[in-house]
Amino acid sequence: MKKLSIIVPCYNEEESVPLFYPAVNKVMDTIPDLEPEYWFINDGSKDNTLKEIKELRKKDPEHVHFVSFSRNFGKESALYAGLQAATGDYVVVMDVDLQDPPKFLPQMYDLIKTGEYDCIGTRRVDRTGEAKFKSFLSDMFYKVVNKISDTEIVPGARDYRMMTRQMVDAVLNMPEYNRFSKGIFSWVGFKTKYLDYHNVERVAGESDWNTWKLFKYAMDGIADFSQAPLNLAVWIGTGSFILSLIGLIAVIIRRVLYPDSSIFGWASMVCIILLLGGLQLLCIGILGKYIGRVYIQVKNRPIYIIKEKK
Ligand code: UDP
Ligand code: MG
Repeated sequence: MKKLSIIVPCYNEEESVPLFYPAVNKVMDTIPDLEPEYWFINDGSKDNTLKEIKELRKKDPEHVHFVSFSRNFGKESALYAGLQAATGDYVVVMDVDLQDPPKFLPQMYDLIKTGEYDCIGTRRVDRTGEAKFKSFLSDMFYKVVNKISDTEIVPGARDYRMMTRQMVDAVLNMPEYNRFSKGIFSWVGFKTKYLDYHNVERVAGESDWNTWKLFKYAMDGIADFSQAPLNLAVWIGTGSFILSLIGLIAVIIRRVLYPDSSIFGWASMVCIILLLGGLQLLCIGILGKYIGRVYIQVKNRPIYIIKEKK
């Protein structure tokens, strides 16, 4: 019998946890040759999430395990902790809010056990129930990131995926501090098949991803998987150098042809100085973003800290 590790990051999900377990268990019962191993990762929840998880463990101590963090480290850290704890032959990563439909598990298993694929992922094909502006921003993000990064980020791809042990080990070999999972899962390679599905709304609770947080996450993703922004300074510098050369030649020619033309252009001069100053600050800012990431990585701090594990 093969074992399937189910990794579930939970942050303030006291309402979802008791709904998640029976829903998934019901589906797991339909796959008799697969034994589940649940890993709930309590990501520093401030509500009774841990209590609910312990309740589940009391009911099913053989299959339910948990890791509880000392504080909130973020979903990406929780996923990493889960992948490290998992012992299964296959590993699946799922949100606890049932936005990742458990009904796909049998299909995923059927596909992955053929050995043809190393990973069965899922992809949302629509975004019903999501703000228009948010959808627009994410479409933009996928367009930009796929243009400037060598790592393919599949539009709408969720973290919800079933992976082979081999692929999980590859992901575990990337102990980087800034963990942009969408990029990491793609960077390690392996053959991935995506199942399409329509968006499902959360069963309970609220998503704490507002537009600003998503925007920052997207910017971090770009910085993690592309160095293109670093080239911006080179391009802007080259462009303004060529422009100023042309301007200089024009000024000299005018001086020679019309020696007594008077001097104009105080206002345009101020604008040009401001423009260049602004562009310089922008480039320094981008540089700073990358240096900041190097700084964090060099400190080599742990990705998460465990308070309790069972
Ligand atoms: N989550 C987490 N740590 C966090 C934020 C979220 O472990 O700091 C978990 C959360 O409990 C859920 C999953 O990550 O299981 C996805 O979160 P959410 O539903 O808020 O995101 P969305 O589905 O809107 O992308
Ligand atoms: Mg969700």
